Amino acid sequence: MKKVVIASNNPGKLREIQQILAPLDFEALPQGGFGVPECPEPHVTFVENCIAKARHASAHTGLPALADDSGICVDALNGAPGVYSARYAGEPKSDQRNNQKLLATLKGNPNRKAHYYCVMVYVRNPDDPQPIIAEGAWHGEIVDEPRGAGGFGYDPYFLVPQFGKTGAELSAEEKNGISHRGQALRALATKLQAGG
Ligand code: IMP
Repeated sequence: MKKVVIASNNPGKLREIQQILAPLDFEALPQGGFGVPECPEPHVTFVENCIAKARHASAHTGLPALADDSGICVDALNGAPGVYSARYAGEPKSDQRNNQKLLATLKGNPNRKAHYYCVMVYVRNPDDPQPIIAEGAWHGEIVDEPRGAGGFGYDPYFLVPQFGKTGAELSAEEKNGISHRGQALRALATKLQAGG
């Protein structure tokens, strides 16, 4: 099995990543087990922050590394909250305050189009000139009334038109089948399988 360090400490994400990588003969190891310090994420694009995180994890462990970055981009807000999705309403981070701020900012605006975006970056070493990059986008619209108890983050306000449901009303399987993260993980698996 080829070891790869995962630049995340989120147990849900680690599980999803481990499931995708195990059949490809990769052993996914959380960076927490290596004492990797927090990585600065100073950039305004997901992909730049994601490369920084993967490189950082690889540099601190001496292993290939995989990082992910995601968020929600709202058309009427020029893509905001974007890379600031987790902390849109400031510290300490709160899904409830983030959603309140998003609705207040969009108040009276008829353009409700939004998409979740996820990028995954795999580096073979910290100086890898050719990282493997996979991405996914999931399109929907922001609604004013929350629906559903599943998911997390902006899901109760993210309506998926083809299902007539919000992200929080979908089962975990339904969400994985179409979500930005599911798309990115499957695209990554295909690229890793092809040898990168
Ligand atoms: P991160 O990739 O864990 O840093 O996620 C960034 C932020 O984007 C999260 O804290 C959420 O606010 C938002 N986000 C990313 N993916 C999702 C999702 O699938 N549902 C709801 N919110 C999400």
